[in-house]
Amino acid sequence: MAQVRKTEEEWKKTLSPEAYRILREKGTEQAFTGRHLENKKSGMYTCAGCGSALFSSGRKFNSGTGWPSFSQATGDSVTTKPDTDHLMRRTEVLCSKCGGHLGHVFDDGPAPAGKRYCINSLALGFQEKKEPIKGKPGKSSGP
Ligand SMILES: [Zn+2]
Repeated sequence: MAQVRKTEEEWKKTLSPEAYRILREKGTEQAFTGRHLENKKSGMYTCAGCGSALFSSGRKFNSGTGWPSFSQATGDSVTTKPDTDHLMRRTEVLCSKCGGHLGHVFDDGPAPAGKRYCINSLALGFQEKKEPIKGKPGKSSGP
């Protein structure tokens, strides 16, 4: 069930036109154009609509399709439903929290689950995991 509910007018105000087209109108970005495609940093991919944590960078793999691909979603962060648009049988992937369209999931992913979540970069934000700073143990500078 979607927990974040906004009217389409509200979404239009909070999302970029490109993100709105993907998340709310089930659009698809052009292959090999997404900003997260070549991202090799570790961190968490979040929903561009509501900020919910969706995919860990550890589940990202290079599928060669031109879209960021993940083998697994985080917990119950995404929901799926059958999609027969464009005369194709696909499974749509939506954000559980806000109901935004993220992409599609296919059954040709890596073992063991065999899933390939094919997700639009425009539907995702990214929170980089910062490595803990290894500083010299020194005197704490108090006030
Ligand atoms: Zn969301």
